[in-house]
Amino acid sequence: MAIADVSIGVRTVNHWIGGRLSASASGRSGVVWNPATGEEQAKVDFASVEEVDHAVAVAKRAFAEWRATPLSRRSEVMFKLRELVDANRRRIAEMLTSEHGKTLPDAMGEVARGLENIEFACGIPNLLKGGFSEQASRGIDVYQIRQPLGVVAGITPFNFPAMVPMWMFPSAIACGNTFILKPSEKDPSVSLYVAELLKQAGVPDGVFNVVQGDRVAVDRLLEHPDVKAISFVGSTPVARSIYETATRNGKRVQALGGAKNHMLVLPDADVPMAADAAVSAAYGSAGERCMAISVVVAVGTVADPLVSAIHERMAKIKVGPGLDQAGNDAGNEMGPLITEEHRDRVASYVTNAASEGATVTVDGRQHDAASRRSGFFLGPSLLDRVQPGMRCYRDEIFGPVLGVVRVETYDQALRIINENPYGNGVAIFTRDGGAARQFQFDVEAGMVGINVPIPVPVAYYSFGGWKASLFGDLHIYGPEGVQFYTRTKVVTSRWPDPGTSTVDLGFPQVR
Ligand code: NAD
Repeated sequence: MAIADVSIGVRTVNHWIGGRLSASASGRSGVVWNPATGEEQAKVDFASVEEVDHAVAVAKRAFAEWRATPLSRRSEVMFKLRELVDANRRRIAEMLTSEHGKTLPDAMGEVARGLENIEFACGIPNLLKGGFSEQASRGIDVYQIRQPLGVVAGITPFNFPAMVPMWMFPSAIACGNTFILKPSEKDPSVSLYVAELLKQAGVPDGVFNVVQGDRVAVDRLLEHPDVKAISFVGSTPVARSIYETATRNGKRVQALGGAKNHMLVLPDADVPMAADAAVSAAYGSAGERCMAISVVVAVGTVADPLVSAIHERMAKIKVGPGLDQAGNDAGNEMGPLITEEHRDRVASYVTNAASEGATVTVDGRQHDAASRRSGFFLGPSLLDRVQPGMRCYRDEIFGPVLGVVRVETYDQALRIINENPYGNGVAIFTRDGGAARQFQFDVEAGMVGINVPIPVPVAYYSFGGWKASLFGDLHIYGPEGVQFYTRTKVVTSRWPDPGTSTVDLGFPQVR
């Protein structure tokens, strides 16, 4: 496979426009770090307004032919893409680990969850079937068709550089749109590798394009009249602003934001199971997951045994690089954070927690890995007796810091969760089916886990939070993704029948 420009090493990560790499002439670029070593490993081009315009023009030209391509062919291309991604999982995961820092098994898991969305898009002929009403009136049939929007764009975050774009482009393209991806500038290489795989799968040039960059590129996509829809995944302040700007410019928008995911543990819960789940969901991927558990709400007597079970497990977490010198799995369970600046910001929440009145049960700043000079490491932290109102509760920390809020009753726990401005994922741990069912009924969040800490929906459902975790009407991927990337047209048809043809100025009746 000839993907010379994206092999790991010193290089510049370019755009991908019209089926080939395209170097930027903007004179602006960013640094791609290796978070495990703290070294700069590449530069990434930052697109100018003109470069974004060029990509949109190329995508617009490709649209006419692509939307006319038969469904069976679009499906065939997705099947081929599925094979190629499947065959290259390891390569994608290595690239991802090198730029993001997550462990290799975690990166493999990310690719696997992304692949599910390509598999979903293989079924596009079935997904685009419309409804048909025969004899809606005498001699009149009515039917609905779904058509693509045109050029659509995806703007994605650093924490899932393979999976989140795959939440978007497989359905968008299978529906007949052409696509522009603006990946995170922090780990941009996977986007080019995937572009190459799409080309090999038979996606025509111009149907999938990548513009690398920062706010300049994003702002241009939001205002460009030929971009019909924006899918955004990232932090809440940016999501809100993207939603407001793009809707003002007449675009369809789904903007997924940040999160503060709670795990409610009732007194009857299986404590070892809840502790395993809390540790996995809080510290996996160094807490840099929008579905990470960042707050445990412990009800009544479960708090003490649960905190000590979590504490015990934390001591065993192996923190270190995701890859060893030879590029293989280093056997660690938690990698570094994405940048030095982000690591320091996360650590500041631990620094402030004690002065706010929380108990720092485990201090990740003291971890061996955090004292290494190179790499953006921070050990896992546990903050007990956290109260709503503290900064460490209020903010999305997006790092390996778990807070425990202690309450006396289910009602107190529910109030805290529902008053939180975010509503992405939430979980309840209990043996009581009735309590779990009541929680599912009461809680204000888009994705609920019952004894499941990270309830990311499978690809044939859709993903999305409530409240400040999503701006827009439709969730991402799955059936709502197909809805998002198409618009419906209803056709009312009658075939010539001179016997029933008359002039009638009245309003059409159906009976
Ligand atoms: P981010 O908001 O900083 O960046 C996301 C994207 O927006 C990137 O491509 C970035 O280049 C661009 N961007 C950043 N600032 C911008 C600005 N001012 N104007 C226009 N574009 C801008 O997010 P991040 O740090 O890359 O990712 C982490 C965040 O994403 C967390 O808040 C996390 O919860 C969230 N996230 C949410 C979900 C979800 O499904 N709800 C999934 C993954 C990540």
